[in-house]
Amino acid sequence: MALPEVARFAKAHGLISIIDNTLATPILFRPAEHGFDLIVHSATKYLNGHSDIVAGAVAGSAKHVALVKHKVDHFGGSLDPHACFLLHRGLKTLALRMRHQCASALEIATALARLPAVKRVHHAGLPDHRDHARAKQLLGGLGGMLAFELEAGVAGATRFLERMRLPAHAPSLGGPETLATRPATTSHAGLSPEARARQGITDDLIRISIGLEATEDLIEDFTAALS
Ligand SMILES: *Cc1c(COP(=O)(O)O)cnc(C)c1O
Repeated sequence: MALPEVARFAKAHGLISIIDNTLATPILFRPAEHGFDLIVHSATKYLNGHSDIVAGAVAGSAKHVALVKHKVDHFGGSLDPHACFLLHRGLKTLALRMRHQCASALEIATALARLPAVKRVHHAGLPDHRDHARAKQLLGGLGGMLAFELEAGVAGATRFLERMRLPAHAPSLGGPETLATRPATTSHAGLSPEARARQGITDDLIRISIGLEATEDLIEDFTAALS
């Protein structure tokens, strides 16, 4: 089912549709234009873009946001002024950062796909990605994240993470520095192996959040680590 159909289905059945737009950001996708009621963001990631705050945002009609605000008021969650300042400042470069990160991710994905050590590369900008056509139609850019699997499996993935020099081996995403993780042991460690397999998350899958470094430096570093 495509995203606008999810929103239409919810509307037709009197449901409130909620979408997490963290990875796309409003630069690549504006869910309200497609009928979603509430849009949630981890502002910790691309919106702030500098890996130095933990924040979140909810957007939607006043009626729907009021339901969320009531809960927030009772739980007491409230961002401190300095974090607000950093987020406000970070937002000013969001469009530029996204443009660089999307272009860099596609260039790196293309370069990785040519390396003999790499079994499969996942990025919606690659023409052979199963969602390539849909992503191009729906999104204003194909994202700053990519993932890949190696011919050498888990042992190879572990060696790659040890040998890469530019990226930090850490979770999170959307910051200025490139970050690499193995989701089976980090973001998706809480899922059963079967649930991970259903989502296409193999044990050797490496996830990369492309940062703001020079693209050619990252390609050189990845190529050296994979050789
Ligand atoms: C990180 C993340 C979250 C959680 O956000 P925090 O700001 O870390 O609490 C939620 N959704 C997505 C898609 C994320 O990447």
